[in-house]
Amino acid sequence: MDIQLKSLEDEILSGRDVVVPPFLKEWLSKPKLNFIGNQFCESNSKKVFCNTNPATEEDLSWVVLSDKVDVQNAIKMARAAFEQGGWTTLPLNERAKIVKRLGDLILEHRAPLALLESLDTGKPIFETFDGDIPRAASNFHFFADFASYEEKLEFENGHDEHTAFREPLGVVALITPWNLPLYLETWKIAPALMMGNSIVLKPSELTPLSACYFAELTLKAGLPSGVFNVIHGFGDKAAGEFLVSDPEIDAISFTGETSTGRAIMRSAAVGPTRISFELGGKGATVIFEDADIETAVQETLRAGFRNQGQICLATPRIFIHEKCYSKFRDLFVQKAKEIKLGNPLNYNTRMGALIGREHWEKVMSYVCRAEAPLRILTGGDRPKEIKKGTFLSPTVIENVPLEHPISKEEIFGPVVSLYSFKDEAQVVKEVNSTQYGLSASIWTQDLARAERVSKTIHAGLVWVNCWFARDLRVPFGGQKRSGVGREGGKHSLDFFSEWKSVCVRRK
Ligand code: NAD
Repeated sequence: MDIQLKSLEDEILSGRDVVVPPFLKEWLSKPKLNFIGNQFCESNSKKVFCNTNPATEEDLSWVVLSDKVDVQNAIKMARAAFEQGGWTTLPLNERAKIVKRLGDLILEHRAPLALLESLDTGKPIFETFDGDIPRAASNFHFFADFASYEEKLEFENGHDEHTAFREPLGVVALITPWNLPLYLETWKIAPALMMGNSIVLKPSELTPLSACYFAELTLKAGLPSGVFNVIHGFGDKAAGEFLVSDPEIDAISFTGETSTGRAIMRSAAVGPTRISFELGGKGATVIFEDADIETAVQETLRAGFRNQGQICLATPRIFIHEKCYSKFRDLFVQKAKEIKLGNPLNYNTRMGALIGREHWEKVMSYVCRAEAPLRILTGGDRPKEIKKGTFLSPTVIENVPLEHPISKEEIFGPVVSLYSFKDEAQVVKEVNSTQYGLSASIWTQDLARAERVSKTIHAGLVWVNCWFARDLRVPFGGQKRSGVGREGGKHSLDFFSEWKSVCVRRK
């Protein structure tokens, strides 16, 4: 491994406050360009915007602001690559080699990617270094293996032979959010590549850096020109919207807010274009009276406060059986107060900054509505010792009515509310009382009860006695307003390909 990559890894793991090394400072000082046809290019608009480090609220780098012409150029390049067939017609095992190589390169560049991701998002570097970046690599390793055999169906009915096989779709648009940037981008890029498509990615305008760095890695991996393209810019009436409303796009895979999903669905009507949506959530944890309280508290703290609560699968509503309510609440609040919050670039920090000023204000607007009878048990403001940055202490609220916006709406911040319940039927009804249906976590020793409850809760993902445990083969997605379609394993392959059937008459 390159010596500067290795010494940055050592620096991250040292537990000291990481200082951005000269090679990355230099990288950050150059404007971040679009990546079209394997070339980094200026935008047609000649305009740029600035992305910010939420932990300091200082400028990080300049990023090109794409207009419609940039978007069309990227789509044209992707289409040309698709039609030339260099990638599409490559045997699956050859595609898999390049896709695997992308995973290897991400691991090799884990330290700069983790640092860029933490600078861009404000999240602690232990999360990006130990979690998001290795997970991004494993998306490539997983799909390279999982998709590397040719799927074929064969039927014979006496006189005809029917064969069905997968074909790529063409040019796919990937639109991603800021909360897990590279991880969620690669979750779509890897299966789209394995199925032989060309890609135009629009990362979130708030977190463009890791996508930019990753584009450099695609050159090292030997991905043919035009197969992978990145355009930077905003969503509404901007690059994102131009991309999803272009009739040349064959499929749109989107992760983001439910309201954006609605807008994209309208744009996609132009095709109509195939869509897959992973949208907002308002997950719940249910603690039954027989739960292992210590373990449940530990995991529920993660489910509430990891990534400052900015995870779609977070469970900001905790329903606790009345018999163990006080015990759970007191331990939960005590442990929430102990979470180490501070400089995201220190490996020992457990909570960093929220994504930006606008989002911080949105989250605080909910906290400010926590008036009596609601009670803030801890948190509710920026920690006193931190003078700048969009930090918010882990916040725990009780006595929140179920119809209150804090109970119903996605806050997407470190704000957790506690509810007491008497019985199973009541808690299932209460858990189901939002428009969302993404995730839930149930804590009980009674597995028959866990099975019963997991069937009646409206959520695409239910965990029993754990949270966030993933197997990439498992269907991933939300019920109700939390999504359309599923990702993961075969479901991602189904989305990024279509079946063709050929019938041959033998006699
Ligand atoms: P967002 O919807 O504001 O933005 C997501 C992306 O969409 C960005 O790249 C943005 O530029 C683009 N965009 C915005 N308007 C657009 C338009 N009209 N046309 C095309 N593109 C447009 O979401 P966000 O604030 O970046 O992310 C947070 C949200 O993402 C939360 O609601 C969270 O729950 C959700 N999320 C869901 C999952 C999941 O798997 N279900 C995972 C992560 C995040």
